[in-house]
Amino acid sequence: GLVLVTGATGFVGTEVAIAFLDAGYTVRGTARSQQKFNDWESFNPKYKGKIQWFIADLSVPNGFDEAIKGVQYIAHTASPFTYDFKDNETDMLKPAIEGTKIIMEAAKKEPSVEHVVITSSFTAILDFEKFPNPGYTYTRKDWNPATYEEAAKSDNHAFVYFASKALAERAAWDDKEHRFYITTICPPLVIGPPRQPLKSMADLNTSNAGVYDLINGSSSDPVPATSAPVAVDARDVALLHVRAVEDPSARNQRIACIAFHIFNFQIVEILRKAFASSPSKLARIKSVSGLDNPFPHYDSDSSDGEELLGRPWTTPEVCYKDTAERLWELEEML
Ligand code: NDP
Repeated sequence: GLVLVTGATGFVGTEVAIAFLDAGYTVRGTARSQQKFNDWESFNPKYKGKIQWFIADLSVPNGFDEAIKGVQYIAHTASPFTYDFKDNETDMLKPAIEGTKIIMEAAKKEPSVEHVVITSSFTAILDFEKFPNPGYTYTRKDWNPATYEEAAKSDNHAFVYFASKALAERAAWDDKEHRFYITTICPPLVIGPPRQPLKSMADLNTSNAGVYDLINGSSSDPVPATSAPVAVDARDVALLHVRAVEDPSARNQRIACIAFHIFNFQIVEILRKAFASSPSKLARIKSVSGLDNPFPHYDSDSSDGEELLGRPWTTPEVCYKDTAERLWELEEML
């Protein structure tokens, strides 16, 4: 099968593209510049020449029409994920929401499209105003109730990003005029060894930057406070995009995928154990003596995601160890 991965040079997009390649699909990828394609290939020599690249921007109507021609499947991962932006609407809400509509419209014009998988987020499920909501169990049936009007004028950048994901996902479900299946994947913080092209460690995607904060400095510094105590391994998230087009049970479903609940001090404990025999690495990992404060918070049920994955979630021990090793490797390279 032929699959289009939008945002294929981003962190999650790179993993999704590689998961489809590894599963034997022919992959097209989009990004906003030719330079990104070249950089992607030099970061991933094993996959050089394997992706058919297209330039496409989510703010350009019809911008994806060429890339979508003849594809069977679409994995739409492109969407801004940062808390550092100026204009709520032009920088965050519009590329997320209008971008999803552009993909839907392009897919509707192309009879070959059988299935559109959208990288949504647990932020499309979580009710921001109720955080941390102890005693409540979130499942794929829940929806972040934020409205466009609230998000457009909010000063809270996390609220705006969360709303962008909920409203983008809603835009896809609200569109009933199509013949293809939809699946939305709703991951919490996605953590994994980054394989996307980076110019410097400052370019690191938002979720992995949170891990880098724990391992890039002096061990005597305090552990930074946890903002989101839920995560999943990027390789599991990528595989879920593939399983979504292969397993009929995923058709027209949202997929919850919180693999573990974890606070920064627990990540630090895992890493200190994993690298116990390397004093130079231990010296870079924050010390457990500066514990951040775990707080009571919501529970979650992501059994649907684990069932679709077809094996147990990757453990936090494997996820954070692999991520830390790769982050230190990138530090040397860049
Ligand atoms: P990255 O910043 O690494 O990737 C974002 C991708 O979106 C990039 O490929 C970027 O392209 C593309 N993009 C952003 N704005 C536009 C635009 N206007 N036009 C075209 N492409 C655009 O972040 P992630 O990989 O983490 O995020 C990818 C997806 O995963 C997003 O949908 C995000 O919401 C979702 N997600 C991520 C989580 C995480 O913890 N990482 C958790 C839950 C969901 P370019 O390189 O050109 O900027």
